[in-house]
Amino acid sequence: MKQVDIVALPGDGIGPEVTSVALDVLKTVCSKYDTELNVTELPFGGTCYEQYGDPVTDEIIDACKKSKVVLLGAVGGPQWDDLSAGKRPEAALLRLRKELGVFANLRPIKVHSALAGASTLKQEVIEGTDFLIVRELTGGVYFGQPRYTSEENGDPFSVDTMRYSRSEVQRVARVAFDAARLRGGRVCSVDKANVLESSRMWRKSIIEVAAEYPDVELSHMLVDNCAMQIIRDPKQFDVMVTGNLFGDILSDAASMLTGSLGMLPSASVGGENGLYEPVHGSAPDIAGKGVANPLAAVASAALLCRYSLQMEEAAQNIENAILKVLESGLRTADLYTKVPGTQLANTIEIAQHLLDLVSDNVVAE
Ligand code: NAD
Repeated sequence: MKQVDIVALPGDGIGPEVTSVALDVLKTVCSKYDTELNVTELPFGGTCYEQYGDPVTDEIIDACKKSKVVLLGAVGGPQWDDLSAGKRPEAALLRLRKELGVFANLRPIKVHSALAGASTLKQEVIEGTDFLIVRELTGGVYFGQPRYTSEENGDPFSVDTMRYSRSEVQRVARVAFDAARLRGGRVCSVDKANVLESSRMWRKSIIEVAAEYPDVELSHMLVDNCAMQIIRDPKQFDVMVTGNLFGDILSDAASMLTGSLGMLPSASVGGENGLYEPVHGSAPDIAGKGVANPLAAVASAALLCRYSLQMEEAAQNIENAILKVLESGLRTADLYTKVPGTQLANTIEIAQHLLDLVSDNVVAE
């Protein structure tokens, strides 16, 4: 049996609830493909701060680097909101992404037909939506220096810096163009080149990379228009590539196409490393109630199989199980509307159904 080591960082709030479902599904599916998963679970975020006085330690970062494959839940919570910037749970997330060098964040936005009615948008607008957002993850305004707060003539002000270099843009562009080759062959680059210097650099760098991919069609869109187009006509997109800040905002908006933040997985890749996490946060409002939707975490485990373990069949096995659960009508509260054929379920009930399905080896459709 092949042995695979991964690190799991369940984190805070609903993080542990959804991560444990994802790990159970992942272990079951891997064993069917002759792979034994050795999981090291470590504290991260607020829970790590409570234990060690820091949201992540050097030892935890080293363990993640060594294993190269990390499954993360979510971090954060109101009890840690007043800590200084470096002690906050979110600081651990930024450090981990940076240290692993996972510069490209892949967020598939796929509307399952069984859920088309769960979105706040009209069914005919969203049905058939299937695109991939590739977000630059380790640069841009979240990391740019200088960043500081000062005062001028008694008036306090703050500065953040949006910085992109050509190499930073081009490496994430190549991830997007490679992904487009395996999908519909179209890349839409999103920027604010009519206003921002860093966006003009972004666009020029992307155009240079496009020359290496004559088989992929490139278009450009301004971010404000893109926010509108995602809601007006999401089916127009195949692969979208954009910077850290714009990608953060657009992907949350796009999540509503799928019905809930609880449906959106993500993969962050770069070099040999992979970090897999649901897009949602720690949802303190429902933490500990056993009602969290585990499907984004489970779908993140499918991406882990696809991108880090090169186990495409296992990935599809998990994705088909998710589809079957949705088709069965079971819904966690975030997705539930009282219509015939649907039934309210808690996290454990969804988990049990998923495990039954993956154990029966769901046939790809
Ligand atoms: P959130 O994503 O945690 O929650 C937003 C809303 O969506 C809440 O009503 C929540 O109940 C619901 N929701 C989210 N995931 C769900 C799921 N799986 N099932 C059912 N409902 C779900 O965002 P927020 O409330 O803005 O942030 C809460 C905390 O999470 C903050 O501390 C924030 O900093 C942190 N956060 C962490 C991450 C991360 O770890 N990657 C991402 C975003 C926010």
